[in-house]
Amino acid sequence: MIAILPNKCDFCGACVAVCPVDCIDLNEADISIRDDICIDCDLCAFICPIEVLESVNEK
Ligand code: SF4
Ligand code: SF4
Repeated sequence: MIAILPNKCDFCGACVAVCPVDCIDLNEADISIRDDICIDCDLCAFICPIEVLESVNEK
């Protein structure tokens, strides 16, 4: 799954643009990921320019 580091995201939208299953909810004040839909591709963690998103492998 993807961990979101608090109070760091600048809401650039890059992660939303790359997510293949559209499971990242982003608005002006908050970002969240629907873990039930996320396929753990890690693209969002890779694309985030300021490393807000972190891949957390629990398998
Ligand atoms: S890991 Fe992949 S599927 Fe999950 S939120 Fe990131 S881009 Fe979307
Ligand atoms: S790519 Fe990173 S900084 Fe940009 S909206 Fe996503 S989590 Fe926030």
